[in-house]
Amino acid sequence: MSDIDKDFTIVQERLEDWVKTSLPCSANGRVAAYIPELSKAPSDALGIYILDKQGQALSAGDCGLQFTMQSISKVFTLILALMDKGEKAVFSKVGMEPTGDNFNSMLKLELVRPGIPFNPLINAGAIAISSLIDGVSPAEKSARVLSFFRSLASNDSLDYDEDVYRSESETANLNRSMGYLLKDNGVLEGDVDEVLDVYFRHCSINVNCADLSRMALVLAFDGADPITGERLIPRRYVQIAKTFMTTCGMYNASGEFAIQVGLPAKSGVSGGILTMVPGRYGIGVVGPALNAKGNSIAGVQLLETIAQELDWSLF
Ligand code: GLN
Repeated sequence: MSDIDKDFTIVQERLEDWVKTSLPCSANGRVAAYIPELSKAPSDALGIYILDKQGQALSAGDCGLQFTMQSISKVFTLILALMDKGEKAVFSKVGMEPTGDNFNSMLKLELVRPGIPFNPLINAGAIAISSLIDGVSPAEKSARVLSFFRSLASNDSLDYDEDVYRSESETANLNRSMGYLLKDNGVLEGDVDEVLDVYFRHCSINVNCADLSRMALVLAFDGADPITGERLIPRRYVQIAKTFMTTCGMYNASGEFAIQVGLPAKSGVSGGILTMVPGRYGIGVVGPALNAKGNSIAGVQLLETIAQELDWSLF
């Protein structure tokens, strides 16, 4: 029996139990409400989907739940911007360092010179990245993003949640002010509202845990989909993305996640978490109730349990 099969047999037996024991801590979290539409998500849901390179999957809990990618999408727009513009152009607009601040903070854009976002996974950085996606119009840029995400998820039906998109666009005063500040700092090219539209669109792409696991699997295998054999991302750009996921992917709880779980990951305020065991599994998790740092409270608890039980930490 290979290592993978052995893990899978063990996990199959215990995954449901781990979901059951992690779920109660959702009661200590809250579903995001600053984007009004997100508040409709069930606060007591928790699901996980684990996919291996042969396409074998394990799942438990509410893994059929649909949710929007939110900040998880930032990993893949970063990759697309790197593929479109190259490393030099991208890193002239965003830095490579964690902030230790909230994901939507604009504090350092004024405090630290030059006023470029510290990294591409905070809101300011992802907004800057949206302006680097190739395309003659916001619609074309968004269409390219969606089609890239569809190919990574091997799912041509991935689409926007129009209600979440509208809800964010109508209430995003903070992100809009950040966009204008970035424009003034010389970071954003083009029209601020058009750049923000590309950003809101990619945050509102609807997925389930299986979609996230498939996208994660491509990263786990350095950019080549192990199921189809197709190379979708140059290896170097996956390396960059995985490093950012490790240092900044769980916002200002990334250090704690690295210690407790030890895997590259990216969370979103809809309660999704995309993570992977490099060379082995792609993993999608959802649990809409969030902790104070904006990460799925039960999702993090579940990943801590599994990673410790199966000794998944890379460190
Ligand atoms: N669209 C969300 C926002 O800009 C994404 C944030 C997140 O998932 N942390 O606020």
